[in-house]
Order: sequence, then structure tokens, then C-alpha cells
Amino acid sequence: ASFSELGIKPSYIKSIKELGISKPTEIQEKAIPVLIKSKTDFIGLAQTGTGKTAAFGLPILHHIDAKSDYIQTLILSPTRELVQQIKKQLFKFTKFNEDKIFVEAVFGGEKIDRQINNLKRTTHIVVATPGRLIDLIERGDIDIRHVKTVVLDEADEMLSMGFKQDLNRILKFSSQSNRNTWLFSATMPEEIKRIIKTYMDANAPRIE
Ligand code: AMP
Repeated sequence: ASFSELGIKPSYIKSIKELGISKPTEIQEKAIPVLIKSKTDFIGLAQTGTGKTAAFGLPILHHIDAKSDYIQTLILSPTRELVQQIKKQLFKFTKFNEDKIFVEAVFGGEKIDRQINNLKRTTHIVVATPGRLIDLIERGDIDIRHVKTVVLDEADEMLSMGFKQDLNRILKFSSQSNRNTWLFSATMPEEIKRIIKTYMDANAPRIE
């Protein structure tokens, strides 16, 4: 299938084409139509380098209401580098958008004040490391009430880095009835299976 057959809008087709992306990878072909069509939890078993970022990123962008000022999506990733990479990719995908979509990256190891100031501007998508996101929530410096989708990228890696408690808190939030959780992981250890069983829809589509 082509990206337009998967449901991707022309402005995104144009930007990914410019990035040299013309034919969907396997995970993109499987995930994109599902994530664009329905509001759903989702489980993707996927390694890096498979095109996973576009597989969740393009559907996330598709669902953003750029006319709204609220944060609508949280994307969690284990490291500062990965968080910045995801933000950069999403930004590139939106090059030909009519309405601007604003993405902020927040992560530990950098002054929180600057990140708090950035969040005071219109922000539609926040890409974050788990610890820093929890800090911002506890300080009351991020409004996540209007978030509809939470993406956990490299969930297994986040767990092995010691973010278990933070992830459980985020999952409690994302499992609320009007929200969806999209979980991506390279491996399926017991702890990930437990998370899926505890917090996610038992009928969620799975791709492995
Ligand atoms: P990821 O697995 O998301 O880290 O992506 C790995 C790399 O593959 C990135 O540099 C993407 O820009 C690139 N990429 C993603 N999707 C495609 C595609 N369908 N065709 C060619 N390259 C792609």
C-alpha cells in the first residue's frame, strides 16, 4: 500500500516524500490505518530502525486539533536524545501543514524553568522522559487534562532505566476512559505484560 492508501493526509505525504520516505515499512503499513481510523489502545512490538516513529507520529499528527491550545498528546521515551529525535521528526513532518502544530520536548538534566516557560506557549504535543514529566505534573506546571493519547515508546527500556513508578502513574492517567495508550516495546518481559494486562484494553490491536 502507499501512504495515501493508509489514510495519511496530502500535506504529510509531501513532507515525508521530501525526507526520502515513499514506501511504508512493515510496521507503518500495519499500524497507521488502525491508529488513524479508530480511537484505540495499541500494542506494537518493534525495534528501532523499523520506522516506528512515523508509525505512531503520523497518526498522532493526524488527530491533533491545531485550532485548540491544549496539549492533546504525550509521548514518553527513555532518554533525552530519543525525546529530541522524536520532536525533530514530528517537526519535519509538519513542514507543509496549514495550521501549525507545536511540539515541546522536556527531559531531565536541563533547567526545568526553561521548559516551564516553553510550555506556557501553545503546545499540542509534549515529548518527555518519564521523570521530568512527573516533576512538571507535581509542580502543576503542565496541563494534561485534555490529553487524549499517551504513547509509550521503548517501554521495556524505560522500565530497565528505573522509571517503573513514574510509568505506573502515567498509565493510571492514560487508562482513564476517554484516553488511549499506545505502547511500543522491543521486547515483552513479564513486567510489560503486567502493564498491558493492568492498564490496557484487552482487545487492543497488537502488532508483532
Ligand atoms: P525509526 O525506526 O522511527 O527510528 O526510523 C529509522 C529511520 O528510518 C529514520 O531515519 C526515518 O526517517 C527512516 N524511515 C522511516 N520510515 C521510512 C520509510 N517508510 N522508508 C524509508 N525510511 C524510513
